[in-house]
Amino acid sequence: MDKAYDAIIIGAGPAGASAAILLARSGWRVALVEKLDFPRRKVCGECIAASNLPLLDALGIGEALASLAGAPLRRVALMYRDQTIHAALPQLADAKHPWGKALGREHLDSLLLEQARKSGVEIFQPWTAKTVEGEPGRFYCSIAQAHSAENLTLSAPALIAAHGSWEIAPTNDLKQRPHRNSDLFAFKANFKNTNLDTDLLPVLSFSGGYGGMVVGDHATTTLAFCIRRDALARSRLAMPKHSAAEAAVAYVANDCDGVAAMLSQAEQHGSWLSVGPIRPGIRMPKQGGHAFLIGNAAGEAHPIIGEGISMAIQSAWLLADNLAGNKQAMSDKQKQMRLHRRYAAAWQRNFAPRIRLAALFAHVAMRPVLADCMFPLLKRYPQLLTRAARWGGKVQYLDLGKSAADPLAETM
Ligand SMILES: Cc1cc2nc3c(=O)[nH]c(=O)nc-3n(C[C@H](O)[C@H](O)[C@H](O)COP(=O)(O)OP(=O)(O)OC[C@H]3O[C@@H](n4cnc5c(N)ncnc54)[C@H](O)[C@@H]3O)c2cc1C
Repeated sequence: MDKAYDAIIIGAGPAGASAAILLARSGWRVALVEKLDFPRRKVCGECIAASNLPLLDALGIGEALASLAGAPLRRVALMYRDQTIHAALPQLADAKHPWGKALGREHLDSLLLEQARKSGVEIFQPWTAKTVEGEPGRFYCSIAQAHSAENLTLSAPALIAAHGSWEIAPTNDLKQRPHRNSDLFAFKANFKNTNLDTDLLPVLSFSGGYGGMVVGDHATTTLAFCIRRDALARSRLAMPKHSAAEAAVAYVANDCDGVAAMLSQAEQHGSWLSVGPIRPGIRMPKQGGHAFLIGNAAGEAHPIIGEGISMAIQSAWLLADNLAGNKQAMSDKQKQMRLHRRYAAAWQRNFAPRIRLAALFAHVAMRPVLADCMFPLLKRYPQLLTRAARWGGKVQYLDLGKSAADPLAETM
């Protein structure tokens, strides 16, 4: 059986669910396909930048987020070996949302998905998008139910790829690359009873990796980090009887006293999650693709800047702003291709600089030779950390190419 829509969205992370809400509100018939049951935990540091909170208000989950999320994050710290530097986080010029907050992905993603449902989106979950055929103007996406042998074909003139970047999906070109020592593996766990200040966002720098800690909802601390393949291998050699996560966290705690101090008092809450290798970088073709790419599917910043959720929601907003009034144009291949090019240019302007800067920060943080040079400078001028957080995007509004001052101006 075929089911017809105006747009099919693959993936219901922050990017896919946000785009679904916005397009449905503009009168589009939207199918949203998500392979996993929610709520689900996810490898993520779970910080939401201040500049995204007005967007989440507009998406309809602001109140729920405010009641669940952790305290406003007013300070950043850089933890390196036995030293810690503190600095203020930049403040957004918005009386309601001056600072970012942390919220577990099991909550954030479920809230957005529920809002999509309320907005009239047809949700296929847990269904996996298996194949995509066609081209702009008419796509066919075959989906399979996770718990049965049921299959369906969905059709729509527009296809939106929001499946993240960590797994094979029908619209991405994740090729099996040969293993490299520099491949990054990501780990995350939650802890209770840590002594971490609730307004502090520590960034961790250690030999062969970087990470972060934060107190989010229910006074739960999230520890998430990325570690190079060669450093992970060394950690496993040192602890051969332990799991990869246990070996990796012991390695991080050994190199970074701030993590050891946090873990010394903490009780782990839930299991370790891991993913990898992750491949930060820009995936968006210069002229746009055949599918509209949003979130990590379009490009992934090294998680050291903790901006992936923001970029996911902001790119969904940017796309919806470009598409909303153009539903009829979707059936015409040439017109749709023009919209691909326009969206791709706006995407590059908003996100490519952040992704490149995050790569620079990550490479400094992971290399002791570079970190040894940077640390005395940052110790002397801690305000550089504030500036780095600003450059990384913590208070960066989405530029729709209309009004830079108001992220919500003239949309939809
Ligand atoms: C260690 C680490 C720490 C991080 N910390 C932060 C942080 O503090 N703050 C921050 O903002 N960002 C952080 N990030 C980045 C952030 O997690 C991602 O950028 C964000 O999840 C991207 O959202 P998305 O919607 O594009 O993709 P995802 O959240 O990955 O969602 C994609 C969805 O698509 C589904 N899917 C995939 N394939 C299919 C298919 N074939 N069919 C159907 N469904 C499919 C998946 O199940 C998933 O639910 C961190 C990342 C890492 C690795």
